[in-house]
Parts: sequence; structure tokens; C-alpha cells
Amino acid sequence: MCGIFAYKGKARKLFPQFLCDGLLKLEYRGYDSSGIAFVSNQKIHIYKEIGEVKNLQKLVFKNDLSSKVGIGHTRWATHGRVTKKNAHPHLDCNKDIAVVHNGIIENFEIIKKDLIKKGHKLISQTDTEVIPHLIEEENKKNKNFTESAFKTFQKIQGLNAFVAINSKDEIVAFKNGSPLVAGILKEGYLITSDIPTISEYTDRLILIKDNEGIVIKDNNIFKIKDGKIKKAKVSNIKIQKETSDKGKFKHFLIKEIYEEPDVIKRIAQNSTEEITEASDLIKKAVGTYFSACGTASHAGIAATYLFSKIAKKHVNFSVSSEFEYFQHFLIPQSLLIAASQSGETIDTLEAIKAAKKHKSKILALVNVPGSSIERISDFSIHLNAGPEKSVLSTKSYIAKLSIFLLLAYKVADKYKVGQKLLLETSNKIRFFYKKEYIQKIKLLAKKLKNQKHIYVIGRGLNYATALEAALKLKESSYIHAEGFAGGELKHGVIALVEEKTPCIAIVANDDSKNAILSNTQELKARGAYIIGISPINEKVFDYWLKVPDLKEASVIANIIPIQFLAYYLTLEKGLNPDKPRNLAKSVTVK
Ligand code: GLU
Repeated sequence: MCGIFAYKGKARKLFPQFLCDGLLKLEYRGYDSSGIAFVSNQKIHIYKEIGEVKNLQKLVFKNDLSSKVGIGHTRWATHGRVTKKNAHPHLDCNKDIAVVHNGIIENFEIIKKDLIKKGHKLISQTDTEVIPHLIEEENKKNKNFTESAFKTFQKIQGLNAFVAINSKDEIVAFKNGSPLVAGILKEGYLITSDIPTISEYTDRLILIKDNEGIVIKDNNIFKIKDGKIKKAKVSNIKIQKETSDKGKFKHFLIKEIYEEPDVIKRIAQNSTEEITEASDLIKKAVGTYFSACGTASHAGIAATYLFSKIAKKHVNFSVSSEFEYFQHFLIPQSLLIAASQSGETIDTLEAIKAAKKHKSKILALVNVPGSSIERISDFSIHLNAGPEKSVLSTKSYIAKLSIFLLLAYKVADKYKVGQKLLLETSNKIRFFYKKEYIQKIKLLAKKLKNQKHIYVIGRGLNYATALEAALKLKESSYIHAEGFAGGELKHGVIALVEEKTPCIAIVANDDSKNAILSNTQELKARGAYIIGISPINEKVFDYWLKVPDLKEASVIANIIPIQFLAYYLTLEKGLNPDKPRNLAKSVTVK
């Protein structure tokens, strides 16, 4: 999380605005606070503001200073509350060094104690603030900014990336775990957290590996490896062009839901090569494991059902943050399939590293080409969903499900059947986007907006839908929602159901139908208000949202009405659908 944006090069006019423009592109990584620091007249100027970057923009609106070097940051707080003091950049005692940071310094408390003992004055509650003070301390010994920053980097533990500047226009950056990449411009260099952020400026990149750094000196960029300065290798990476354009839509969330039929079609038509390669890997593997986080984890759970049903193959799934406790039986012939929209999800990166220790093969599913996960994997499949800007994942979930479905069919040697089913899905879901359907969802949003709890049940493939539906409702509306396998209710959860408790039943027309309808009846018998998502309007439903009957692809279609519902709930509640509380798009802290 946290977005870093830094520049060094020829002097640029209106420098604060330039840094804010960069930060706007990174805002989806965190919007607790933002801040910039830059050098003008051999002095560090610093501005910070709470909340969205537009607040910072207002603050620097009239500032027309130019500068050759500066850093910017959008924060997703891990240590210390959301206050101006805790916002980055952080300074040393002399206000001569400024630092922005992404990650968690696991040993910051010990370092902080030691720094205070040595007379340093730390004013924030963050872990980050120890970095500029450590550099200051090191600088007392060797007077070399790059070396001091390197020594500091060696002292901090955990997964981190930071960029430091000083009032002499020097800049240096290091990374371990957290993402950081540099781009070459005509007039200088950029350093940012995300490859797509650079796309507007350049496709000539310097990729920084873990435990490496970069330094820009005399208008040249160098790598720092083991403390030694080396020539930096330029990589030309085809970058997905960023779009900040919401088109005719008010929010990215709704825009991206509208893109879903085309995403499915694109995958059905263009994935043959990648799917064939991936299917060969699965066939050769001795044990296939899926791992992902959040919404992507629900696609992983769906994959286990798809592979069982279509490919008659046993695969395992673990959320990435638990994978390291679950890796002991991996062997070099094992295959880990890791899915992450951004390709930067730190927990998923860690799962990959755990699998790599066993020399297992890694297949990545990412939406951002060139991302860290793609780079450390042996093979990758691109989701091709186009940039996903909304913090709430929608189209990338649909894309992952579509790829897993196609992959399961390919492993079963029935690729064409899968392809046909996806194309049919892309066509048959188009009625969701018609005015009458949307009206029905809006009406439901009105009915649900003041509810405290919503329960969602599904069985088989649509157990994953129930989990994802509950997550979407929570993230969007802050209503407490829980998803369950229908059969589990009677083992405890049914105790929570009261008169008029809204319960959503995902009823697919498959071998789970009778059982899920019985579970729905059990809820109804306790007075629940039943919202049915089903191809048929069953008697037990109080409110019906029709979905097409798409066999295994029902897992793709059935979530879409809930995505719409999540969107309209945010509007009903007066919330910003693109800025859900406490969340960030790409999760790069452990
Ligand atoms: N630990 C730092 C803070 O809380 C950076 C957080 C992050 O990277 O998300 O300010």
C-alpha cells in the first residue's frame, strides 16, 4: 500500500503540482493522507494533508516553486493514526533529509529507542520516521548520503521500500519486498511504486530487485547492489496505458462492472496460447496449488470446484497469507498458481517466495504486465481486463474466473466447449445492464440500506459467489455481511437469523439446487427475508434477481447483480464508491 512518486532531473516548474499529479495516479494505493517534499534554494520544502490528494492539491495550489528533486507519498497507515504528523514525508532533526516509505519496519521500536538515546527528536508515531534519523546518524560518520542510506536500509527489518532526498539535491532509493521501479524520461528520472503510473511518461524502465537500490548522479541512474554502485540495465516494457477517464460513468466501480461482458469475450477469443501452456504445466505437475488474497481468493476457491467438476482434478487452495504455514509438502514438481490483479500483493509474493524455496514452478495470473509477481514467476497469464482503478475488484474477478474455467476445460481436453460457454456467458449477461434490471437492483438497495446484517448462502461453485458477494457488500456499504456454504447454517449461523433478516440465496440450476433450496427454506422458516439470485423465480423468494442459466459459468454471472447492488448501496448511503473506508487497491504490506 502507500504510493511513492519521486523525480530527479532538470528543474521543473510548478513542482508541487507535478508531484501531486503523480500522486493522483497512485491514490488507489492509499488515501489516508498525502504529502510531498522537494528542494528549492537548497532547502527542503514540505507539505502534508489528511485525506485525499485533492486536499494536498488545494494546499499547494498557489505554490509556483521549481525544483530538480522531490518525493511524494499517499499513505495507507500501518503504524500511527491518520494525522498530519504521521503523514509522509518524514524529516531528520536538521530538516535536511526527507523520506517516503512503503512497508513495515519490524524492528522500528528498538531503533527508535536507540535514536532517542542518541538525542534524536522523533515527532510521529510511525515506523517510517526512524529512516531519516538513521541516515542522519550514519551521515555523521561517513558524510556520504548514498552510503548512509544503504547502511540504514541494512538496519531495517521487514518488507520495505523507501526514497530519500537531501537538501543537496541528492536522491537514493532501496527496496526489499515492497514495489519500486524507476523510469527514464527525456529530462530526468521518476521513481514510483507502480509500473502503470509511469506509463504516461515512459516505457523505459529500471527494474529494481529486492535488496537493491538506485541512485541518480550527474544525470545518470545507477543500481546499488551490496553497497556497490553499478550500471543500471534499461528494460523496455510494454506498459498498459493508464486511464483516468471514467467515460460516461460517475465512478470507476460502475464503469468497470460495465466492461465485464467484453472482458469475458476477450478472454474467450484471445487466450488459447497462454491457456495451452498453463494446462501443460498442470498436467505435468505433481500437485497444483492455488493461492490469492481477498476477491482473488474467492476466484481461487471457485477454481478448486471448477477443476473438480470439469477436469476431475484435485487442486488445493490456500489464502496467500496462510500459504507459508502450508508449504511443507511442496516439491520441485509442484505447481503454484498465484493470482493478483496488481501483481504486487505482498502476501501473494510471499507465498510465491515460499514455493520457490522448494524450487516449485510458479504460474502467475496478473492484470499488470511487468509487475513483481509476473517477474518472479516462471510463467504468466495476463488477465487482459484493462486497468482496474476501482478499489473494489469486479472485472478482474470475472477475468480470473473466466480464465480458471477455460483452463479447467483445457485440462479436460475440452477447450472449445469452455470457449463456447464463455462466449455464451458474455452474451447472456448483457440483460443485467438494461434499465429495468438496474431499476430492480436500485429498489433492492433502498430496501437494504439501513440493514445491520446480510447473510449470503451458496453451494458448490456458488459457495465462492456467496463469499465474494458478502465481501462486496461489506466493502461497499459497511453493512455486516457474511457468506456461507448453505449446508453450514444449521451448524451455528442460523442462530443469528431473526424476523426479516435479509438473506441472499444463490440458487444455481445444477446438482446443488435442491439442497440450497432446502437451506433457503430453513432460513424462511425463521422469518428471513429471502432475496433469490436464480434463473427461476422460486416460491421461497421474497425478492428475485434473475440470472441466466449458464452451467459452470453461473459462477461468473451470479456475482454481477451483487456487484451492481454494492454500487447502488454506496450511492444510497451517500458514500464514495471509489474510496471505500480503510481500504487500498493494491495491498503491499504484510
Ligand atoms: N508504515 C508506514 C506508515 O504507517 C507506511 C505504511 C504503508 O506502506 O502502507 O506510515
